[in-house]
Amino acid sequence: MNRRLDETELRELRGLVDEDHICLDEPMSRHTTFRIGGPAEVFLTPDLQELESVLSFCKAHDIPVTIVGNGSNLLVSDAGISGVVIKIGKHMAQIEVSGHEITAGAGAMLSAVAKTAERNSLAGMEFASGIPGSLGGGCIMNAGAYGGELKDILTEITVISKDGTLETVDAKDADLSYRHSRFMESGEIVVSAKMVLEDGVEEEIKAKSADFNQRRRDKQPLNFPSAGSTFKRPEGYFAGKLIQDSGLRGYRVGGAQVSEKHCGFVVNVDNATAADVRQLISDVQEKVKSETGVEIHPEVRFLGDF
Ligand SMILES: Cc1cc2nc3c(=O)[nH]c(=O)nc-3n(C[C@H](O)[C@H](O)[C@H](O)COP(=O)(O)OP(=O)(O)OC[C@H]3O[C@@H](n4cnc5c(N)ncnc54)[C@H](O)[C@@H]3O)c2cc1C
Repeated sequence: MNRRLDETELRELRGLVDEDHICLDEPMSRHTTFRIGGPAEVFLTPDLQELESVLSFCKAHDIPVTIVGNGSNLLVSDAGISGVVIKIGKHMAQIEVSGHEITAGAGAMLSAVAKTAERNSLAGMEFASGIPGSLGGGCIMNAGAYGGELKDILTEITVISKDGTLETVDAKDADLSYRHSRFMESGEIVVSAKMVLEDGVEEEIKAKSADFNQRRRDKQPLNFPSAGSTFKRPEGYFAGKLIQDSGLRGYRVGGAQVSEKHCGFVVNVDNATAADVRQLISDVQEKVKSETGVEIHPEVRFLGDF
């Protein structure tokens, strides 16, 4: 555990942001789709200007900073997260359309950006309409589904670099690949992104998104909290199939379970703790390896002290 912020630091931090944009000891279970996670020591939902000042303050005071988006790919520890947790969300969620280009704040939900594309008869983002993440989280993860991924449509990503400066990165230089971007290693913070789409017909775009979303409802256990596919797809296999073939359908640790409906999802069926999920993930990895010889790795990102 890191040291806690002292009174002076807290007072100074409060002075940097609107009072509605900061709270203390905020349960992260309120900000993750798993509905799991202990308290964030300081929890902020800044606008861009506040974000810049908070980052330079934290840097100067050596306060650890953790960035989250919509929390749809996160397992936050039961002990929570010390230091400052910054949610890039509704105060950085502007969406603008110009011709074939959409520029949006990292806090905009992928579903909202996809809806904007649809209303403007712009095709190519239907795949993302049902991914429950923010644009920023989507850029970090290179989110994708049904044969599409953000890499296909992103042209520019604006980030705050480690030294605190705003920088616009050509998407080709972002090392976007299957559930990976360079930002995972660099720690750069995504503040906005530009996408280029194609001319389409609103009704057709709408029908395509509806079809993808129906397929999600049919196949995925959306009635339980989860973080989506828990494991990455190993080359040449499907994680869910490997887990199923290893006899783990319905396998349970505490309140966490391998979904009965889709073995690729770990679901929170009964007040699971992060420790339950963590243990279950490691049991599944071990059993799949011993039964099938294939190593599977989590897609879900672990945050906080485990
Ligand atoms: C029911 C369900 C279905 C899903 N289906 C899909 C799917 O089809 N395809 C898919 O790819 N994913 C899917 N996911 C997973 C998830 O929605 C995506 O990974 C999404 O892109 C995560 O975005 P987020 O805003 O929730 O990010 P978070 O989960 O909050 O964060 C993910 C990572 O990005 C970092 N991060 C977030 N925002 C920023 C930022 N602005 N700058 C820097 N770092 C940041 C965090 O630190 C963390 O490491 C699904 C999840 C659920 C619950």
